[in-house]
This record gives sequence, structure tokens and C-alpha cells, in this order.
Amino acid sequence: MNAAPSRTHGLSKSRLVAWLQCPRRLWLEVNRPDLRLDDLAIRRRFAVGHQVGALARDLEAGGVLVGHEDDLAAALEDTRRALDRLPGKPLFEPAFQHDGLLVRIDLLLPEDSAGSRHHLVEVKSTASVKGYHLPDAAIQAWVASQAGLHLSRVSIAHLDTGFIYPGNGDYRGLFHWSDVSERIASLLDQVPGWTSRARTVLAAGQPDIEPGDQCATPFDCPFQHHCCPPAAEYPVTLLPHRRGKTLARELAAEGFNDLRDVPAGRIVDPLQQRIHDATRNGRAVLDPEAAAQIGAVGWPRYYLDFETIAFAVPAWAGTRPYQALPFQWSCHTESAPGQLRHADFLDTTGQAPMRRFAERLLATLGKTGAIIVYSAYERRILDGLARAFPDLADPLRAVADRLFDLLPLTRAHYYHPAMKGSWSIKAVLPTVAPDLDYGALGEVQDGTSAQAAYAEIIDPATPAERRASLTDALLDYCRLDTLALVRLAWFSEEGGRNRTGNWATARSQVEYDFRYISVTLSGGENP
Ligand code: SF4
Repeated sequence: MNAAPSRTHGLSKSRLVAWLQCPRRLWLEVNRPDLRLDDLAIRRRFAVGHQVGALARDLEAGGVLVGHEDDLAAALEDTRRALDRLPGKPLFEPAFQHDGLLVRIDLLLPEDSAGSRHHLVEVKSTASVKGYHLPDAAIQAWVASQAGLHLSRVSIAHLDTGFIYPGNGDYRGLFHWSDVSERIASLLDQVPGWTSRARTVLAAGQPDIEPGDQCATPFDCPFQHHCCPPAAEYPVTLLPHRRGKTLARELAAEGFNDLRDVPAGRIVDPLQQRIHDATRNGRAVLDPEAAAQIGAVGWPRYYLDFETIAFAVPAWAGTRPYQALPFQWSCHTESAPGQLRHADFLDTTGQAPMRRFAERLLATLGKTGAIIVYSAYERRILDGLARAFPDLADPLRAVADRLFDLLPLTRAHYYHPAMKGSWSIKAVLPTVAPDLDYGALGEVQDGTSAQAAYAEIIDPATPAERRASLTDALLDYCRLDTLALVRLAWFSEEGGRNRTGNWATARSQVEYDFRYISVTLSGGENP
């Protein structure tokens, strides 16, 4: 069983997994952790992982949690003692090490009362077994076996997206357990070699490894800003989509870093050509066809945007893991050219917001007029709402039939060099309405931070003042999303002319005809 901590341990499963992604990443994790940049998406992924892990433990009754996250010797000793004295008990986070390689196992379940054989379970917050889970599980199993444990099987417990939460904290059935014993069998013998090669990396200087596909596979590496500084003002890597990335690699291999240096004729794809031409000439392109198509839309127009959240662990009865659930919308209504009113909805009660979201939306959108959006996402959410609420299905589908997606139109007919290969509304807006700025918003400036803000707002532990500030930030963010659509439509319709001046402080220029912010946190009907 576990020996005393070795002076050579230095490696944990997570570090070995970092080496598997990229040897340079391991070296940086150990030697330059100060260069690591964990963005909000990474931090949220960790938080979800902890939540899912804790829930998996809750579902295994009578288990013993081996603590000591920061004390390896104590964790090893407590694990040894628990295996000796409580052989029939499930263990959570037991620690094992062999040859200086340390692992903590999510769930270790005895197969018999004597604890002579164990079932090793790794808990993942994904919706299926991913390829990168297998070396992860193999490392756990190899170390545990070498430390003297007899493993009967190894499983990955992942979220079952078919699970519908019945409510009242009953999460039985949330996990699907997949036996991966056979799939990791051929990897077990490779673990000693991985360990040895990882140690070789650590014994030398920073590896000279070029950035490549590994920087985002299987996860975004937190050292990308260090390894991948922009090579040029308009790097060839800004070419979009898979074929653009393929071409960018070819161009880089030919010695081109900046798109402006690439000769005409080297790029043949029409979309890439448009980007190339605009970038080389330093001029935006706007096809008059955009004005023709928007001009045909007529009035009234509704400019609409949704915000959604997808909980790994369903928060509301009747919902599934990772189901996209709408909690906020913003709508600018243009009843006649230039005449705007604004309405928005944000439910901060912590109760399921979807029904109220749909009802208030239907009351705002009326029966006629195009509804301008900027992706196919709103249509998918409306379809989901129609399925969830059959009595609202017909009017919701009628709303979906009125959607006019500005994104494909913009992608086909507009490009500005400052967009740098992206047609996201955040990339487009500064080029059509420089007076509006997502960067000037508070702490909610994108979809990821919007979801984080909403999750914090509905957390009962969040202080009222903080909740109020996040609520304002969410409202400002979603409002800007739809005001951006207004300005883009006007810009395209008017051939690139900009109605600046009156719109710098959009909030004060728009008349509110309806606002719904529910702030009741428990019980009762909302206002
Ligand atoms: S950014 Fe890329 S090259 Fe740099 S350490 Fe990470 S994976 Fe390796």
C-alpha cells in the first residue's frame, strides 16, 4: 500500500495530463505558474467540476471523504487508515502514489465487505465519455494498482443529458456510469513511460514547442497569451472557419504572418478574398444588396436578443443537464423609421423563469412585424419553449416564423478590416457604431460573464447590493445587444452612413414602454 511521500514525487495526475496536452505546458505549470491565465470560462469549468463531484459523492451513501487537499502526507495516511479500518466503505478523494506520481480518486467503491476488490470511478461534468478521459483514468488506475489496490473495474461517471430532474433535490439517475476498463487496458502500460518523459521535460529548460492544434485541444491552454502573442496586426490566422485555418497554416509555412503581405491571387475562396481585399486596402466593403434586403423588411421591426443558462446540474424541476434555459430578453421596437421603444425581461427570483419569459415576450412582440435577431439561436430557444409549454406553442411558433436573421446577411455583404475575421456582434459593432462600446459596460460584457452573473444573482448567498449591481450589468449588456442590431440594420440600410450623435447614451434616448425585473427570491407571485 501507500509508501511515505517520495522526494521525487513532483508529479500529479493533473500535471501528467498537462504533459499529455503539451510538454511545454507541463514545464510552464511547474516553473512559471505566474504566466498562467485562467479566464472566466476556465474558472467556471472548475467550479462546475467541483459541484458535480460533490453531488456524485452525495449520491453514494455512507462514504468517507479523505480531506487534506494541501497535505499529501496526511491524505496518504488517512487513505491507508480508512482502507484498513473501514474496508467496506466507499472512499471519496483517497490519495495514492507510486514512484512519485500522486493521484486522488473521485470515488473508490468496495466490491465486497472485506474491501478486497474495488471499483474506481472518475466523475466528469461532460455529457459523454471523451477521449481525453481515458488517459486520465488510466493514470489513476495504474497508480492505485501499483500502490497495492486490486481494481475489479474502472468507470467514468458522466452526466446523463436524458435525465429529467424531478425536483426536491432528488438527483438519482443524474449520472451515467460507463465501464472503461477495456478501453484503458492498453494505456496502463504506457503510464511509466509518460511519467519518465514528463520528468525529462522538467529536468531541462523550457521546451521549444511551436503553438498548434494542441493549444486548444482538449482544452484551451491557459498559457496561450504567453506562447501565442499576435504575430502581426492582421495575422493570417484571422481567416475564419476550418478552411481558413487550413489556409493560414499553409500561408504561415510559406513565411506569411500578416494577411496584408499575402499576394492577390493566392486566395481564391470568395469570403476569404473579401477579407483579404478589405484588409490589404484598409477599407470596409458593404454590398448594396444588404440595404435592399433590409429595406424590404418594413415596419414595425422588433430587434430581439435572448440570454440563456445551461446548468450542468439541473436547478429546476422538469429540466435536463446542459439544457439551454432562457432567463432574459431585450427588445427594441422600431414602430416607424427611427422611432424606438425598449422593453426587457430579467427574472432574478431563482425560480424557473421560462414560462414568464415566454408570456412576457409574446405580450411584447405583437402579431405582426419582422423580428430581427443575430443568429439561429433565438429560433432554437423558441422551439424549445414551444415544446415545453404546449398551450403557448402556436403563438411561439408564429413568433419564430417572423424571425429575420441579420447574421448571414451581414456575413454575405459586409466586412471591415477591424473585424479581424469575426462577424460576432462584438466585432461588428465598433465598426458600424463607434459611439457604442461593449468595453464600457460593467462586469457583464459577453455571454459567459452574463451566465456567471445570472448564476450569482440567483444564489441565495449573494448579498442584495451585489445582486442589484449584477442585475443592472445584465440589463445594460442585453440592451446593448439589441441596440447593436438596430444600429447595424440602419448602417446597412443607409449604405454605411452612421446615425451618430443622438445615440451615444443609448439608455437615455430610448423610451421604455415595458420592463420586467423580478427580484422576489422566495415564494409569492412576481410583480
Ligand atoms: S499555449 Fe500551446 S504551445 Fe504553449 S504551452 Fe500551451 S499548448 Fe503548449
